[in-house]
Amino acid sequence: MGAKIRFLPTEVVGKIAAGEVIERPASVVKELVENSLDAGSGVVTVEIEEGGKRRISVMDDGEGMVGGDALLALERHATSKVYDEGDLNAIKTLGFRGEALPSVAAVSRLSLITRTHDELSGTRVLVEGGQVRGVEEIGTPPGTRVEVEDLFYNVPARQKFLRGVQGEMAHIIEVITRMALIHSAVGFVLKHNKRVLFNLPPTNEERSRIKVILGKDVVSQLVAVQGSNRFGDIRGWATVPTYVRGSSKGIYIYVNGRYIRDKLISHAVSEAYRRFIPAKMYPVVILFLSIPFSEVDVNVHPAKMEVRFRRGEEIHRLVSDSLKGVLSHPHAARSYEISEIREETAPYSVPSSLAPGAEMIPSPLWRMVGQLKGTYLVVEGDEGVMIIDQHAAHERILYERVKRSLQGGRIAQQPFLIPQPIEVKREEKELLIEYRAELVKVGLELEEFGDRTVAVQSIPSFLQGEDLQLLLEALSEELAERGKGDTVEQVLDRICVFLACRGAIKANRRLQEEAVRSLLRDWEEIAQPSTCPHGRPLFVKWSWRELEGWFRRG
Ligand code: ADP
Ligand code: MG
Repeated sequence: MGAKIRFLPTEVVGKIAAGEVIERPASVVKELVENSLDAGSGVVTVEIEEGGKRRISVMDDGEGMVGGDALLALERHATSKVYDEGDLNAIKTLGFRGEALPSVAAVSRLSLITRTHDELSGTRVLVEGGQVRGVEEIGTPPGTRVEVEDLFYNVPARQKFLRGVQGEMAHIIEVITRMALIHSAVGFVLKHNKRVLFNLPPTNEERSRIKVILGKDVVSQLVAVQGSNRFGDIRGWATVPTYVRGSSKGIYIYVNGRYIRDKLISHAVSEAYRRFIPAKMYPVVILFLSIPFSEVDVNVHPAKMEVRFRRGEEIHRLVSDSLKGVLSHPHAARSYEISEIREETAPYSVPSSLAPGAEMIPSPLWRMVGQLKGTYLVVEGDEGVMIIDQHAAHERILYERVKRSLQGGRIAQQPFLIPQPIEVKREEKELLIEYRAELVKVGLELEEFGDRTVAVQSIPSFLQGEDLQLLLEALSEELAERGKGDTVEQVLDRICVFLACRGAIKANRRLQEEAVRSLLRDWEEIAQPSTCPHGRPLFVKWSWRELEGWFRRG
């Protein structure tokens, strides 16, 4: 056999490298806007067409580039931000690998138009699939404009994995939101198909930026966080424990100016809140950490979304101690007590399938004997004795019902006389609207009602009395999972599980005998399944023979 190893053609190398940094239109937006921020821009304007699949344009008023640099910028590993190895240990800019522009250029048709503030004219470079097609002098205002058309036109495999227009838009909005939250002094404009989605004016007031992005409800619940130890400083904002969300998407963590996703810090946040808020509920926090460069490595991940801390435990402690500090502050503590009382006296609404209105034909097979810890039902029948987890059983019943409605069955709906406007985040709204047709089938009707609001027209009646905001937030979190390679069927199934879990009667609730009878009957009707939709067992059962055996009878 002859020699078999060869060098890859440059073009292929380019595409492979691009694959690591550029996953979807939102990655392009992230890289381009980061460049604009690094260039000291005052306003960044992002224009998108068709979710970024057709066109992405990022325009800034930053320092710009001279002609020679414009060409160099498109070469791999060419950067003005890191000159030697020493610089790598003190990265102050968002970019430093010199990879973004060439990567985007390798998988699209790109035009780069740029001019410095000192020069009288600018330069335009056209690149197609990584090949420079033309360079010319051009009249243009100072600053830089990068236009990216037909992303992945030469990588069909990538193209196939892109989501619908709304889905890609949701990613783009999230990416810009993350940057806009930390750069309040920079203005951001986002347009989609010529429509202005948002226009965030520059401001010196961080809170007012947060308000435009996350809404006034959130801002009114924020307290300032501050702290430091030998390994770093932290500052930022956190909601008081009375404010909770059904999703963890309101947690924004930045390290040295960069938005990151980090398990360690997220854990520190949940730990700080654990004593104050119920499980599976989340606060909104925006935390800015400054960690000495010697203590953190940002060069771990091509998209720089992850970092590595040298002393993780110390950073964990810094975050959770500072949060606990403000949460146990009198102001925060007082609001907590109020919420606790409210929770206890909240009227309990009997889930509709157990409500008196429901038919009360008793189960022919099982009869209630009692209830243990307000959570487990003890029932007896001809076969023997069972202990049933009431939440799991009800959850299973609702799950089957929602499932059936997806397949064309009918589901009891509770319409609102006046559609309920619910404020959510933009990308949550986009997702909910994207799945509108599916949601209608399960009894949840909603429509777009402005930039960050949806109007809910009806809900499945078993969700009566649920907090709509929490419901929609948690629901859109489930929908967002879709991006991770799930099929539509899997997403729909998860919606069913989710709604069932939401609507199901909780543990620690005393149930009247009629309610239990109705529950048992419903359960028999769906052929007495033995697990809940999450796969947990729903009952344990002993035959009379077993029971008699224990007492050496029979
Ligand atoms: P990096 O940001 O890692 O340096 P990029 O490929 O993103 O790599 O950009 C390469 C270089 O092009 C940057 O170092 C910078 O000098 C220049 N550049 C890119 N975008 C802009 C911009 N919007 N304004 C001014 N200079 C830019
Ligand atoms: Mg860059």
